[in-house]
Amino acid sequence: IFNNIEELPGDALFAIKQRLAEDSRTFKVDLGIGAYRDESGKPWVLPAVRKAESLIHADPSFNHEYLGIAGLPALTSGAAKVILGEDSPALAEKRVVSSQSLSGTGALHIAAKFINKFLPGRPVYVSDPTWANHVSIFESQGVKTVTYPYWDAATKTLNLDGFIKAIESSPRGSIFLLHACAHNPTGLDPSEAQWEEILDACVKNDIIPLFDSAYQGFASGSLAKDAFAVRLGVKLFAETAPIFICQSFAKNVGMYGERCGCIHLIVPKQDSSVNVTAITKALGSQISKITRSEVSNPPAYGAKIVAKVLNDAELTQQWHQDMITMSQRITKMRRTLSDKLVALKTPGNWDHIVNQCGMFSYTGLTKEMVQRLEKEHGVYMVASGRASIAGLNDQNVDHVANAINEVVRH
Ligand code: PMP
Repeated sequence: IFNNIEELPGDALFAIKQRLAEDSRTFKVDLGIGAYRDESGKPWVLPAVRKAESLIHADPSFNHEYLGIAGLPALTSGAAKVILGEDSPALAEKRVVSSQSLSGTGALHIAAKFINKFLPGRPVYVSDPTWANHVSIFESQGVKTVTYPYWDAATKTLNLDGFIKAIESSPRGSIFLLHACAHNPTGLDPSEAQWEEILDACVKNDIIPLFDSAYQGFASGSLAKDAFAVRLGVKLFAETAPIFICQSFAKNVGMYGERCGCIHLIVPKQDSSVNVTAITKALGSQISKITRSEVSNPPAYGAKIVAKVLNDAELTQQWHQDMITMSQRITKMRRTLSDKLVALKTPGNWDHIVNQCGMFSYTGLTKEMVQRLEKEHGVYMVASGRASIAGLNDQNVDHVANAINEVVRH
């Protein structure tokens, strides 16, 4: 009965990893997957994480027991403060429901299931372009996705008018997935003034925002700056609609494979006749029901590490420093690559590499150029021209600049 099942093409991003592993050339450069690499091109265990791990292992009560269904409370409460701010009115007013998830993907998956059950028939609007998995995650749960204009390829800037018009013309109560910061794949974020316009339009049109926060701390090195849009959204929607936040600690704590994240649902303020606690308890119970049937309870190890980092003042400070280290190295490599392309007089304008933020640059290189970069120069990136800037370092940036120069010219 399984003989006629169709074989699907492999995941484009993970296929890059595979081709890289099979490439026997000694000099190759991985600008594919969005994972931070240090100056020597190696994965980086954050110093804050190393310390947290040694403290956890030194604790005689450490064990591998199950967590509760909603996860580790020290993680979920700390995580809520990271994204909403220590002094968040929503937290003080107990309008936040937080539950641990299998990293950001798991949080989005819970959101998708929740939307399918409690907001049936409503599509989720995603930016054009967006992280490819967004569409897969929502559609796998029977939630349709629709795109809204975002990237203007001609100018390599935000299509703000198109974005706002899409908000205004969507049916009331539509769900808009917003990248909290460090937009994937473009690396292009709205300015603070543009966020105000976008979120005002969302409020006016009864949109339900779903913030995907996978890179907090990566865009600017500052948690507060990178949470600007989320915190403004929480403030503006306080009187009107709920908000979903899907939070990942993959990148900013380097927990990639440990799958540590959270989903937060924020409910609006209620008048005094309504019992907010009853609402948040009901929502929490529904999220737990989803988690229980799918993973029973979330993974403990990464959660313990992140909870330690978030609840120990010294480690928190170290973590803040670690995010600065990562974001500054990426910023420096943007500048270096752009300067080298300018010095080589590579046709085109390369300012966008510097102006974009976060892990990625949407280089504007065509699919054919990307193929030649891989085949002829051993430089791997996503077919869309998205390059993970974290894969650059002082040893390979000349090679990459020369390779880009060559494929652009010939
Ligand atoms: N959202 C976006 C936009 C992402 O780029 C990623 C990671 N590539 C995620 C969510 C989730 O990643 P993870 O499941 O590893 O936390």
